[in-house]
Amino acid sequence: MIEAFEEIFGRAAGIRIFRAPGRVNLIGEHTDYNLGFVLPVALDLATWVASAPSPDNHLYVHSEDRNETWDWPVAEIAELKRAGHWTDYVAGVAHQIVHAGIPLEGRKLLIRSTVPVGAGLSSSAAIEVSTALALLNGRHMEPLELAKLCQRAEREFVGVPSGIMDQYVSVFGRANAAVLIDCRSLEHEYVELPAAGVEIWAVNSMVKHALGQSAYRERVEQCAIAVDAISRRFPEVTSLRDATLQQLESTPLPSVILRRARHVITENARVKLFVGAARRRDLSRMGELFLESHVSMQHDYEISCEEIDFLVQSAIGIEGVYGARMTGGGFGGCTVNLVRPDAVKRFREQIVAGYRERFGIQAPVFRCIPSAGAGEV
Ligand code: ADP
Ligand code: MG
Repeated sequence: MIEAFEEIFGRAAGIRIFRAPGRVNLIGEHTDYNLGFVLPVALDLATWVASAPSPDNHLYVHSEDRNETWDWPVAEIAELKRAGHWTDYVAGVAHQIVHAGIPLEGRKLLIRSTVPVGAGLSSSAAIEVSTALALLNGRHMEPLELAKLCQRAEREFVGVPSGIMDQYVSVFGRANAAVLIDCRSLEHEYVELPAAGVEIWAVNSMVKHALGQSAYRERVEQCAIAVDAISRRFPEVTSLRDATLQQLESTPLPSVILRRARHVITENARVKLFVGAARRRDLSRMGELFLESHVSMQHDYEISCEEIDFLVQSAIGIEGVYGARMTGGGFGGCTVNLVRPDAVKRFREQIVAGYRERFGIQAPVFRCIPSAGAGEV
């Protein structure tokens, strides 16, 4: 990376390198903005930023992925607005740092990433958190503040209504463990994953249906409608995280709202059941919960799609696959699969061949290795 940096920007002294991982969410989909539980793992797929001071008081950024270099005068960063471009993720983080009262100096950043972009493995949080660390350049920030600052960059500057999960796990991830995040208290617990007997594999459907963003907003609104109705009878319910299935069923609601709320309530319960199963090393129960989660996303939350359903159905038909589900916001992206190590070869071959035959698309397959959160390399 230092060589690549010097090729783009010329020789520099004091280059430092910071890393932030992508993530895969094991279970707990669309529970974050309902103040419930999520269970992501940080990945070995990550974004690295090599960084050195720039004496001319500009902030430069080069992404190897895009093969593009941009720059802004540091003095203008406080007033920057989104440009509708990948550089928004970098400018947005710089903007939030300045607005947090932390002085910025001129810097040059070279960005390299192994997180597939737009696949639901959160290349966005990885670029935000690694950029933030590079801009802080060793200055201390509380980890939770760092995650929140990057979330604000995505929500307010880039304009994507992101929950806190992606940035949180990119900061707090740990090797061999999943991170159980309580999205209300913003506290977490590490859940050790069974080290033997199972591997986590992601399959990228390579589709991302345009519905995604408007459907996301619509789901957020539908959850709010459900909370409003339930809380009239049960005032202790201030988010779907508080509601029980009995309370939901005794509240008159249009059937679509009922189904949306049922997904969130049952999904929250599944996160806890999954944590219990993981602690007991009960792989078949973990797999069942994956599938129940998928069916709930498919029929109650209606955020899956034909390609993803095909990948899930194919996976669970392969001997040695404990379970499969869509991961991430929906309408495409990746599936996450729990696979017995001796079945991995068969799993990869069959899933890729079947998908190619059905949709004519080559699906990249990634091993997901639970890894440490962000830091300096
Ligand atoms: P995901 O987070 O699931 O990968 P998003 O749509 O949230 O998908 O974020 C992807 C966007 O983040 C890209 O379109 C691009 O703008 C930006 N991005 C992520 N990684 C990089 C990178 N290495 N170089 C440039 N832009 C990147
Ligand atoms: Mg993202």
